Amino acid sequence: MQIAMQIAMRVRALTLPSLPSFAALLALLASVAVVACGGTGPRAARPAAGATPEVAPPASIAAPGSATPATPLAPASPTARRVPVVVLDPGHAVDEAGAAAFGVVEKESNLDFAVRVAGMLRERGIEVILTRTADVRAAAPGEQPTREQGYNGTRLDLQARIDLANAARADVFVSLHSNGAPDPEVRGYEVYYNAARPFANESRTLARLLLDGVSTEMRASGYPAMARGAFDDACLKAFQGRCFPLMLLGPSRVTAREEVYRRGGTPEGLGFAPGKDAITLRPTQMPGALVELLFISSPADVALLRDDGARNAMARGVARGVTDFLAQSAQPVQSKQGG
Ligand SMILES: [Zn+2]
Repeated sequence: MQIAMQIAMRVRALTLPSLPSFAALLALLASVAVVACGGTGPRAARPAAGATPEVAPPASIAAPGSATPATPLAPASPTARRVPVVVLDPGHAVDEAGAAAFGVVEKESNLDFAVRVAGMLRERGIEVILTRTADVRAAAPGEQPTREQGYNGTRLDLQARIDLANAARADVFVSLHSNGAPDPEVRGYEVYYNAARPFANESRTLARLLLDGVSTEMRASGYPAMARGAFDDACLKAFQGRCFPLMLLGPSRVTAREEVYRRGGTPEGLGFAPGKDAITLRPTQMPGALVELLFISSPADVALLRDDGARNAMARGVARGVTDFLAQSAQPVQSKQGG
């Protein structure tokens, strides 16, 4: 709350023209925490009733535009043996809203970015699957979204996103997020990958191309490009002194009943059979990266997140990174699926 009040005071001092009234901001910040982004940690607070529309991005985030990129994006490789499949994952949903401040709620912003990127990739003949297209938990093919909340809901949601990507035999998995931090001066974009997978080199390349893509498009459109880097997610999440990579990017892991209790979940809701002491994560089976598009906790970054042109530039940057990666990975002789 103290952080929220400090941020609110900064907003009044900055008087950004597109921000809601100070009273509305106070109401929002009183009920929505600025939290770190990504993973399954106990972090997100529930937004105030009425603060988050049921489905689409906030009214302040305009519909995807069609601004021209600095240079054309690379087309899907003509040498590819099949249409590339890209899974875009708008982070968070429902009661797990991600970072939120200054009228921007991460789960909504993420979905808006995913829709923009998907349109750009589809224009290039790439098949795109979104893990969610509304403010709902993800569901694996043939299944219904979980009704669980809290740790259980988040974990089942993340597993469904993974299962969905694996079922689609996706070539690339890109999760879209924005960041949050206690310090409002912290800003910029960064990308995470996992270095402990058989395809770690590909994931690292993907992460760097995504970072470069966003930098290229932001600079070309005249926006400040604050690239923070591409990082291994090995210790991105810590819980009770132990490091965890992101579920979406990392290798399989075993979660014991006792850990579920400590994280505030219930084993029964996670499908623990009677007498079963642990469940095993089914990991993604393709190169992947998680993009953090700016900090919702930074007034300077939020000004960009509320700017339609800047949002399009970032979306073009992500699309550029994906198409550059597909063009590179089509070069080797081996083809993953062979058909
Ligand atoms: Zn997030």
